[in-house]
This record gives sequence, structure tokens and C-alpha cells, in this order.
Amino acid sequence: ATPTALLVGTGRGAQLGILIKGPEVLESTRAVDTVVLDKTGTVTEGRMTLLDVHLADGEDADEVLRLAGALEHASEHPIAQAIARGAAGRVGELPVPEDFANIEGLGVQGVVDGHAVLVGRPALLAEWSQHLPADLERALAEAQAAGRTAVAVGWDGRARAVLVVADVIKPTSAEAIRQLRALGLTPVLLTGDNETVARSVAAEVGIGEVIAEVLPADKVDVVKRLQSEGRSVAMVGDGVNDAAALAQADLGLAMGTGTDAAIEASDLTLVRGDLRVAADAIRLSRRTLRTIK
Ligand code: ADP
Ligand code: MG
Repeated sequence: ATPTALLVGTGRGAQLGILIKGPEVLESTRAVDTVVLDKTGTVTEGRMTLLDVHLADGEDADEVLRLAGALEHASEHPIAQAIARGAAGRVGELPVPEDFANIEGLGVQGVVDGHAVLVGRPALLAEWSQHLPADLERALAEAQAAGRTAVAVGWDGRARAVLVVADVIKPTSAEAIRQLRALGLTPVLLTGDNETVARSVAAEVGIGEVIAEVLPADKVDVVKRLQSEGRSVAMVGDGVNDAAALAQADLGLAMGTGTDAAIEASDLTLVRGDLRVAADAIRLSRRTLRTIK
């Protein structure tokens, strides 16, 4: 039979804005010593805006935005939505791509107005021998050093531009990290984004350990590796790309503002997407388990 205290804990959780999959979930928090946090949409708002367009020699900003915007309009990624919105705001109606493919953790690829277009990490363009000229490399590095996300745009065999988008850190994230530390947990930032951007965000919210440039399919391996080092891992995430890692973690926490896949894979859901509630959840389960003992 389920101890009454666990059910009381579950009810108290609901009041705090925590949905608990089952009373037994509270047990898994007992030994947790590490909390792995996804960056985009978890520590940050996940709502980006297009800030800058850097062009290679001879390129036209409206043309870059038309082709990149058209392709990104077909993607649900926060970076894609920022680019599509920014492009539509500047050039008006965007063409419909003749072909589109999402390349998880790297970018998008497709055909727009007869051009084979790529938007994403420079590594994606490099696979097609589209290398950034030196001035665009510099613009990319500067944007990343400032904690912004920069993606490359290329078509028909040439890199054409760098687009800079920025996401804002949730105002509650730094306080949440402080509370998690006070509970004795070591925070780790895990992201597919670039190392420099990740370090800048981590520094701002007080996270010392950063694992960056991780492909979506590899996030689960990071959790497994930490576990194999003897750590007991809580993972907080919001994206489809976090689902496997959330399921693998000793305790999976989903942002209620995130995707259904993340919520389904998790033990707990933080209804309002406020990271401070992750600390509340751990505090609550420790208190509940103490009551049972
Ligand atoms: P995170 O782990 O931070 O949620 P993702 O794994 O979704 O990030 O993406 C990793 C990186 O791949 C992004 O920072 C970006 O450089 C690139 N990328 C992914 N999808 C897109 C897209 N639709 N358009 C442009 N770049 C993208
Ligand atoms: Mg995410």
C-alpha cells in the first residue's frame, strides 16, 4: 500500500505547481546529487529574436532573409521562428520551400526559389564545402562571445551570411540555481549550442560545469556517463531533444511550457516553467520522505 505521506506530498506538489507522475517518484529524489539543465527553453526563455545580419561580400540582406526565412518558417525550432519572424517583418511574405528537411541539432536544409539553401551551424555548411569567409567567422565569434547564437546561411555552394539571434535568460534562473546548490546539488548545463554561448549563459546564472555542442541523440549518453561516474542525476528539460535524457535520468523534470514529448518522458512537470519550482520539488520530496521514515 502507498504510504499516506506520499499522497499528501503529491497533493502539496500540485499546490506548488508541480505535477507528479506517481507517489513513488518522490523516492527517486532521495539520492540525487547532480542536476543537469538544458539551456534553451529551460534556463533561457527559448524565445529568440533576430538581432543582426552579417553579409559576405556582394550579398543582399533582403535576399538572404527571404531564402533563410522561407526555410526556417517550416521549422519549429526557436532559432528558426526568430529568423522567420524577423525576415517576414523586413521583406514581407516569404516563399514556400519546394523542399524542406530538418537536421536535428544542426539546422535546416531545403529548396527555395530553385536554390539549395542551408541554415544552421557552420559545421552543417562545412559538410557541403560552404566555408565562412574570414569577416563572417569574426562576426560569428564576436556574437558568440557576447552569449548570442549565430547561425550561417548558404546556398548554391556558397556561405552567404551570418544571422545573430538572442535568447534571454529567465529572470528566475539564477535564484533557482542558488537554491539547488543550497540543497547540495551540483548544476550542469547541457546544450547543443556552441561552447562559448553556453559558458556565457552558465556564468550569468552561476553554473560551473558546462557540456556543450551535444547532438540531441547524445544528450542521453551524457546522463548515462554521469551516472556511470556514480552520480545520481536529475535532468530538467523542455524539448523533444531532451526526452530520452529525461527518461534516463534518476529524476526527470519537464518544463510545463515545453513539448509533450518531454512531459511524457518525465517524472515531474513544473507547470509554469519556473526553474525555482525544481528546488521546491526536491525540498518537498525530501521533507515527505523524512515524514515517512
Ligand atoms: P539546445 O540543446 O540548446 O536546445 P539544439 O540541439 O536544438 O539546441 O540545436 C543546436 C544548434 O543547432 C543550435 O544552437 C543551432 O546552431 C543549430 N540549429 C538547430 N536547429 C536549427 C534551425 N532550425 N535553424 C538554425 N540553426 C539550427
Ligand atoms: Mg531545449
